[in-house]
Amino acid sequence: MKIAKIELYQIDLPYSGGLYKLSGGREYRSFDASIVRVITDDGTEGWGESTPFGSSYIAAHAGGTRAGIAEIAPHLLGRDPRQLDRINEAMDEALLGHNHAKTAIDVACWDVFGKSVGMPVCDLLGGRTEFRMPTISSIYSGTPEDMRARVADHRARGYRGHSVKIGALDSEGGPALDAERITACLADRQPGEFFLVDANGGLIPETALRLLRLLPAGLDFVLEAPCATWRETLSLRQRCSVPIILDELAQTDEDILRLVAMDVADGIGLKISKNGGLTHGRRHRDICLAAGLSISVQDTVGSAIAFAGIVHLGQTVPEQSLRCILDCRDMVSIETAAFDAPVEHGGVLAPKLPGLGVTPDLSVLGAPKETYD
Ligand SMILES: [Mg+2]
Repeated sequence: MKIAKIELYQIDLPYSGGLYKLSGGREYRSFDASIVRVITDDGTEGWGESTPFGSSYIAAHAGGTRAGIAEIAPHLLGRDPRQLDRINEAMDEALLGHNHAKTAIDVACWDVFGKSVGMPVCDLLGGRTEFRMPTISSIYSGTPEDMRARVADHRARGYRGHSVKIGALDSEGGPALDAERITACLADRQPGEFFLVDANGGLIPETALRLLRLLPAGLDFVLEAPCATWRETLSLRQRCSVPIILDELAQTDEDILRLVAMDVADGIGLKISKNGGLTHGRRHRDICLAAGLSISVQDTVGSAIAFAGIVHLGQTVPEQSLRCILDCRDMVSIETAAFDAPVEHGGVLAPKLPGLGVTPDLSVLGAPKETYD
């Protein structure tokens, strides 16, 4: 089997909640998605997506995603898409870095591989756990009562995890406002719920320590991405008792190894496009499991095609170590594909169809923006 053609589609995905606010004054209304179709010489096709969270979240942006795919795609024609490590080596030889550009192609090749052998991707990644994966909400920064109401709304819709965004500057209310936000969001906590308090790198050790000292005792949460750098995070880590997990800092194989070597965190947010696709995601999963770290399987954002990648990798993480998955479908107002993985009975199960199990809607995607053949 050989790759005969790679098509690249572009679509804007409006944020379903209107305006998304993140630490540092960052705001987002819509996300620019790049979707790839890999077609083989026997007519098998695979799909993958990479949708950066704007241009100011990590060092990734949609224009770079597509420019990266243009660099890589010609080097993959004629190669066997089922040899995923070899595909990733070829991508690295064509372009250094740029996880977000490689992800859509990597995921599409896994989809092809699954279809070629009649197996779901999760079974190729190690086998399904049968654990119904809880979904996590994404509660953007706002007033404490507004955030509490949005947690309640997501709870009513079946979410068992909540990612509460904080990181107020002193001029916005600082650590006191963040402490009120956390307290409000956890006020109605139900048994079995899981809370991430996510600063997206928006604190420094001083503000983080002030914030933690303002909180009432006994709140059950983990602190995600408190600081923007390794040094700041390690400094905080050595002086606080709250579990810390990394997100934006944990992108490459080396990042994951550094995290373990420095003992800088207790878990990671493994985002498919941030971490370089399912091939690198599989490796990061295994390193984290070997080190006793918890894993939340997510993506930066994305539509149903991105969600399919999340579901298949998440379904391979043992229950003890998997905190949640992100149902990014719910964050955007456009459905790019049919994907039969409803949130039911407290969570999501990967479908048993071959490959990812997605059926993209070509009437939504339109004509390809670029074709490589
Ligand atoms: Mg995060």
